Amino acid sequence: MLLEEMRQKVVDYGNQLISSGLTIGTAGNISMYDPETGYMVISPSGIPYAKTTAEDVVVMDLQGNIVDSNRTPSSEHSLHAAFYLEKPDARAVVHAHSMYCTTLACAGVDLKATHYAIADTGVATVPTVPYETYGTPELADEVRKCLRESDSKALLMANHGMVAYGDSLEKAFAIANTCEWCAQVQWRAMAISTPNVLSDEQMAEVIEHYKTYGQAKEDGKQSQGYFG
Ligand code: 13P
Ligand code: ZN
Repeated sequence: MLLEEMRQKVVDYGNQLISSGLTIGTAGNISMYDPETGYMVISPSGIPYAKTTAEDVVVMDLQGNIVDSNRTPSSEHSLHAAFYLEKPDARAVVHAHSMYCTTLACAGVDLKATHYAIADTGVATVPTVPYETYGTPELADEVRKCLRESDSKALLMANHGMVAYGDSLEKAFAIANTCEWCAQVQWRAMAISTPNVLSDEQMAEVIEHYKTYGQAKEDGKQSQGYFG
């Protein structure tokens, strides 16, 4: 099977999307990019994660053509392709309708540096892209525009959810978890008070410190924040 290992990894992390509580039902989707072939592998549309097999994961090129699979790809395949087209270091994308990020995105509230851990995204404020219908080229275009203007590893999509990318699926997933935890902290802080948001200077320092957080890994890469 073409790109079997990657397709199985998409299946495994799809199950983690559910077990971690990051998404519900068939909402959300996951992809990985293979620079050698120029193909991405992406979860199929509307199949419960627990029932998805590696064969169900669709191999596509970044122009929207299906290369291998008899399943319909995720409706957000152009949105995923936008990351690989815009960010040369992107190797995986995780999209989720996680409760707290989605709550902020529906309320029109930016995900800010209420807690310093948001440094995991590489920025102090996670950008929100304007609302467009799910699964449309218009939504993918808005995401692409935002990626061109921002160094953030995550975005909120108005009235929809969140999306994160990384140079591995582990990292993309870790950043998604960080965003969700920070969104919950911000929501709770807003419930009892007006949060004290950290300044850009304070966040620049944390972002720098995060580059050497934790143990150096065997592959020479550093840990990703507190979730991986
Ligand atoms: P798919 O099942 O087509 O991936 O759609 C889920 C979703 O989250 C749409 O934005
Ligand atoms: Zn969605």
